[in-house]
Amino acid sequence: MGEGFDTRVIALVMALRNAGIRDSKVLAAIERTPRDLFVPESFADQAFENRPLPIDCGQTISQPYIVALMTQALEVTDRCKVLEVGTGSGYQAAVLARLARRVYTIERYRTLAKEAEARFSALKLSNIVTRIGDGTKGWPEQAPFDRIIITAAAPERPDAILSQLREGGICVAPVHNGPVQTLLRYRNEAGVIHEEALCDVRFVPLVEGAARSM
Ligand code: SAH
Repeated sequence: MGEGFDTRVIALVMALRNAGIRDSKVLAAIERTPRDLFVPESFADQAFENRPLPIDCGQTISQPYIVALMTQALEVTDRCKVLEVGTGSGYQAAVLARLARRVYTIERYRTLAKEAEARFSALKLSNIVTRIGDGTKGWPEQAPFDRIIITAAAPERPDAILSQLREGGICVAPVHNGPVQTLLRYRNEAGVIHEEALCDVRFVPLVEGAARSM
């Protein structure tokens, strides 16, 4: 992103608006987040296209539309303490950091977590805390969270993570529903978890277990 307006990001924001993303704060957060810094150099020319792209460790940076949709569904305010499971490139966390008070993001691959952290410092996003570990257990030391976003597909209702959602809180997550994955929005209403299906999606799997040395 050089100085001034990057027409590619403006075109992306227009495409997201046309696709039905109406939250102007979400669109502004996307406009201010240079996605080209979050993809491998060889894909930088495609960074502002509305499609997922491969990143290191065999993982994927989500399609911008899905990032926008999940962020909008999360109803984030500047008072929110947010947990993200699945840092990946760090792009989703960077978008959330423009809207939230603080973002805690956890990734099982050291390589990805370190690369994401470097991007956060380059962009001076000082309200993101990154951790290497198994996000299926959430982040107990920092719980409860006002908002939780899971960016890898859970095999079933992610109860351990949902137990770290504050009353009145919202969690958005792709969850397997037979062969398809459905994006679900959970709300903790007075201690009871309610769920709502948003749409079908395709994410890399949420993998249980210790972080690999990679
Ligand atoms: N939010 C990311 C996209 C994430 S892709 C972005 O904006 O780029 C999903 C990520 O979840 C992958 O990096 C994968 O390694 C990670 N992941 C999968 N299972 C995990 C687990 N149990 N704990 C933490 N991270 C996990």
